[in-house]
Amino acid sequence: MNLIQHFVNGELTSGSSKKKGKVFNPATGEQKSEVLLANRSDLNNVADIAKKAFESWSLKPALQRARIMFKFKELIEKNSEEITELIVSEHGKVYEDAKGSLTRGLEVVEFACGIPQLLKGEFSENVGTNVDSWSMRQPLGVVAGITPFNFPAMVPMWMFPIAIACGNTFILKPSEKDPSCSIKLAKLLKEAGLPDGVFNVVNGDKEAVDAILENKEIKAVSFVGSTPIAKYIYENSAKNEKRVQALGGAKNHLVVMPDCDLDGAVNGLMGAAYGSAGERCMAQSVAIAVGNIGDELVSRLSKKSETLKVGPGMDKNSEMGPLITKEHLEKVKGYVDLGVKEGADLVVDGRNLKLQGYENGFFIGGCLFDNVKRDMRIYKEEIFGPVLSVLRVKTFEEATKLINEHEYGNGVSIYTRDGDAGRTFASKIQVGMVGINVPIPVPMAFHSFGGWKRSLFGDSAMHGTEGVRFYTKLKTITSRWPSGIRSNAEFVMPTMK
Ligand code: NAD
Repeated sequence: MNLIQHFVNGELTSGSSKKKGKVFNPATGEQKSEVLLANRSDLNNVADIAKKAFESWSLKPALQRARIMFKFKELIEKNSEEITELIVSEHGKVYEDAKGSLTRGLEVVEFACGIPQLLKGEFSENVGTNVDSWSMRQPLGVVAGITPFNFPAMVPMWMFPIAIACGNTFILKPSEKDPSCSIKLAKLLKEAGLPDGVFNVVNGDKEAVDAILENKEIKAVSFVGSTPIAKYIYENSAKNEKRVQALGGAKNHLVVMPDCDLDGAVNGLMGAAYGSAGERCMAQSVAIAVGNIGDELVSRLSKKSETLKVGPGMDKNSEMGPLITKEHLEKVKGYVDLGVKEGADLVVDGRNLKLQGYENGFFIGGCLFDNVKRDMRIYKEEIFGPVLSVLRVKTFEEATKLINEHEYGNGVSIYTRDGDAGRTFASKIQVGMVGINVPIPVPMAFHSFGGWKRSLFGDSAMHGTEGVRFYTKLKTITSRWPSGIRSNAEFVMPTMK
């Protein structure tokens, strides 16, 4: 059985813990590897190594750090096929989707290549007579990232390229369900010339996470995952005096206005609801049909959902792969059962899908519910599977009220030809990332990614300039040279006359 280790101080290591987790190939249902799960002492040792590495890494000129990022970018491009196959083999999503997610991570590396420009401070000459003032941003020290299973390359890459380029050292605790990708990225960083100890991967579960939260050397925590764990990370990081950004779960709506390009909306919904088997925090799992568009919308969606090509991720014909684990498959099926019980109309039922040759894979077909109501659990809760719910409302105002009253606020979209409706929607909606005739409005690397409400705990979104601010602290210097020093002691607040 393949054993996945940790990557610490520039090499693969086993640590002292004997605990192991199981990693599956979701398409076949077979266990593919075992992964070591670190204990508290393993994590604390890594934090000491990262602290030591910070002493010299933080002093390297930003330009030298950027050059390593340039080299890392080249190596990712050269190894993109292998990394993509790793994603498919442990996560299950289809090849082209996996490749796209790697590219979105790569774009953050490209952004980090501009770190000398991004770290420039501000300077004011003569803020007082012969007194100058300037600001600069300095790295925090050792920082940690804790990431979910659904984007094993992209989500860690939202974090570490910027953190490292800013001069921090990094401990990544990836999802124990698909950890191989992180190890590959660590090896490429070393090949790019990153000094040992600057980037470390520690595999683990709750024990390793709790050790991160309690370790005094770790100054900041970036988290992406489900809302209950995001809240736990937020509270415990704050309790231990760490800077924290904790991105949580979602329930994203796509508003279909009666005047929209309906084909565009239906195609947008198909990709956004069923892409990556719905295991995306930006999946559009709720369509709100406004006015009289509902019947036509559901009729077109049902035809397409019934012919969705479900299959293994490496099959070029597959549009949708399996779910991550058997337990998650059972959970998603349970939500479909619940929707039927709650009284929603199950128009397309993917629960009984069986694939020849892949009978033990974690597959489910696309599911479509109509006439879903706001008090149903299938509407209120995140399912994280290929289950699309259609709600019908009479007006635009009713649609926006529904969205604004939902506990999550990650992504949202509206399909309309009415510029006024689009503009009002963008301005009034209580959601962090908004699409207008765009189904999945994921911001590019040079903007920032983050939701509102219970989809993000903390003040800072990921990557872009928000990332640079999160991974650095501000210092402001006020200086005067001897020729400008006044001779008498002053006991009052200096002000400009
Ligand atoms: P998860 O919350 O179960 O796990 C995320 C990380 O937390 C993993 O590294 C895991 O090992 C760790 N963890 C799990 N349980 C823990 C516990 N009890 N104590 C401490 N640590 C724990 O999430 P997941 O199932 O891996 O990922 C899916 C979730 O992530 C969905 O809710 C999805 O919406 C969310 N997500 C959000 C975003 C976003 O940007 N908002 C992006 C991707 C995924």
